[in-house]
Amino acid sequence: MQNYGDRTLTLVRGEGNYVWDDAGQRYLDAIAGIAVCGLGHCHPAVTEALHDQARTLLHVSNLYNIPAQEQLADRLVYLSGMDNVFFSNSGAEANEAAIKLARRLGNERGYAVPKIVVMEGAFHGRTLATLTATGNEKVQQGFAPLPEGFLRAPFDDPDAINQLAAEHPDIVAVLVEPVQGEGGIRVPAHDYLNRLRNLCDKHDWLLMLDEIQTGNGRSGKLFAYQHNDILPDVVTTAKGLGNGVPIGACLARGKAARLFTAGSHGSTFGGNPLACRAALAVLDTLENQWLIERAEKLGARLLQQLRQQLAGCDAVVDIRGLGLLVGVALDRPCGEIVEMARAEGILINVTAGNVVRLLPPLTLTDDECARIAETVSTLIQRFTRSAA
Ligand SMILES: *Cc1c(COP(=O)(O)O)cnc(C)c1O
Repeated sequence: MQNYGDRTLTLVRGEGNYVWDDAGQRYLDAIAGIAVCGLGHCHPAVTEALHDQARTLLHVSNLYNIPAQEQLADRLVYLSGMDNVFFSNSGAEANEAAIKLARRLGNERGYAVPKIVVMEGAFHGRTLATLTATGNEKVQQGFAPLPEGFLRAPFDDPDAINQLAAEHPDIVAVLVEPVQGEGGIRVPAHDYLNRLRNLCDKHDWLLMLDEIQTGNGRSGKLFAYQHNDILPDVVTTAKGLGNGVPIGACLARGKAARLFTAGSHGSTFGGNPLACRAALAVLDTLENQWLIERAEKLGARLLQQLRQQLAGCDAVVDIRGLGLLVGVALDRPCGEIVEMARAEGILINVTAGNVVRLLPPLTLTDDECARIAETVSTLIQRFTRSAA
């Protein structure tokens, strides 16, 4: 279909932090399949696990116990502080599960239209429910009627949510990204999640965190909420979990963990042996290569180098990030920088129209980090000078 527009680059091979196009040109990958390939491309631990599982058993469905799924569930539950998990194949489906949990709670409470508070600038996916939760009209355009049950609040403004509580006694949950990814790498105040946690406790709402982009080590913790020393009631993740093999997870704790009963939700492929083996290899590698700590260090370094090299560039409005989620916000649309960087052999992305987004693999070397900072800074300066 035409939904992806014109694509002009064909990538045919990847190894580590590099990919190659069909003409043999090499690119340093500073977008990593949109925060998916955190271990870089074709990481041997993932490749080996896939190879082994492909020879053993690919799929049986959730009619049966799946040992790798149980192992992965145990690991994720232990690492996240949650009680249990539902596995899906994508981020949007993980969020659908979270939304259904909130709906179930609302139904139990007898609300005709239970409400979930979602944020301006949010991105939660492209299914009907998740695009409704998304705070971007372009994503919703032309898909009416949208499902009911969502209230919008400004991002990074707990007081505004508290005010919604007065008008809406049927709120059941707050769904939020710890750092808005598609929305422009928007990093909230450091105590934002703590304040949301208090608010949700006060009103008996579920705190549901969308860590589809921020999770799996990229923020410098396995999950970004671990920077805040709080536990959500529900956390969703996907992107980096399988390093390229489609898998999503909706983790839940306490009462949220008991809302689904036998038959109330499901997926044919979700948590299949192949995807779970990939995710187990990802978690092993994050741990035994100290990649989460590395993401924290590299992120700080990348921010510092960008700030140094872009100091005095008036077109730069903000340079921000958490771990290896880094954004440079300009005062103008800057989609052209993607092409300019490609010509220099680096893959980057622009999101929210004016934010250069960098989501490199956690396996980046210091030299590669410096090259990204230098090239991106030079291109931003060249671009904003030429357009001025
Ligand atoms: C990518 C993303 C999604 C959607 O994930 P899909 O796998 O594309 O369905 C949802 N939420 C956030 C925060 C994301 O970054």
